Amino acid sequence: MNEVNGQTVRDVGEFGLIARLRAALPPETVAGPDLALGIGDDAAVWRPTPGERLVVTTDGLVEGIHFRLDWTDWASLGHKALAVNLSDLAAMGAVPRLAVVSLGLRGDEEIADLVDFYRGLGALAARTGTLIAGGDVVASPAALTLHVTAIGESRGGRVLSRAGARPGDVVAVSGTLGASAAGLRLLAEGAEGPRRGTTTAATLIDAHLRPTPRLDLAPLLLAHGATAAMDLSDGLLGDLPKILSASDVAARLDATAIPVAAAVRALFPDDWLALATKGGEDYELLFTAPPRAFTEIREVAATVGATVAAVGGVVAAVAAGPSLTMRHGDGLEEAVASGAFDHFRGER
Ligand SMILES: [Mg+2]
Repeated sequence: MNEVNGQTVRDVGEFGLIARLRAALPPETVAGPDLALGIGDDAAVWRPTPGERLVVTTDGLVEGIHFRLDWTDWASLGHKALAVNLSDLAAMGAVPRLAVVSLGLRGDEEIADLVDFYRGLGALAARTGTLIAGGDVVASPAALTLHVTAIGESRGGRVLSRAGARPGDVVAVSGTLGASAAGLRLLAEGAEGPRRGTTTAATLIDAHLRPTPRLDLAPLLLAHGATAAMDLSDGLLGDLPKILSASDVAARLDATAIPVAAAVRALFPDDWLALATKGGEDYELLFTAPPRAFTEIREVAATVGATVAAVGGVVAAVAAGPSLTMRHGDGLEEAVASGAFDHFRGER
């Protein structure tokens, strides 16, 4: 298909668009021995591994809420639309297998941009062994909406959940926190912002636009006895309470132990802790594990190039007490207000 510069969705129509998007995907992501029918029929037909359980997740990105087209390129947007779903599968300890993509389009989007979106999504799908099995295109005049549903499989019939943290467990996170929120802040400050010229700015913006789902680490958590896990999408202080409430326990965090990238500390000397604990969209894994299991996980994490850090401990829930407290470097311990980030209520 010869692309004509500036050609839009309206010019080529739904079927022309689907053919071009399919062609933008790496061949190994649109066909495979387990995929009897992929893109192009009424539904996809896929053969799961006998004995495993299916793990299903869906997550959407809405223009103006989750992304701005003047802040992202289309390939990064495609990467992120799939990455946030794969991150949820990683949080379950699941193996990604296939995904379907639903696009809500205004109609004036350029074909070349949507092809770039599929190239970004397809590159991550190929790297992670995820088949792209189909999707849908609908008209969405008010805002571009990008929904992905991903299906994974359990490992040996087992998955990780948010329920399972026990008093005495270590609370731990992978990687560093705050880079994505710092990147978002830099984007909001604009291209002329005082911090944008720094060499670290690009790294932080990239962390926001192209998060890496921690699929390498997830099986290690499962194999070495993590008791609960989730991915960090709403910030440590927004997400940890979800594990605590699902597990019916409380926790103490040590603010000085939270791993924060040097670039975040350097560019945001006054806000780095808030960015790391409340910023969101890190897509790192938050998990709990007994101390010995945590030590093993920390050792094996290095074999997949990952790092994990202990940031606190799980304690028994006390009816009258706060479920989450955080101790600061000066020794002061503060109760963290309960109530996670709510997408319909906005800021905490
Ligand atoms: Mg999640």
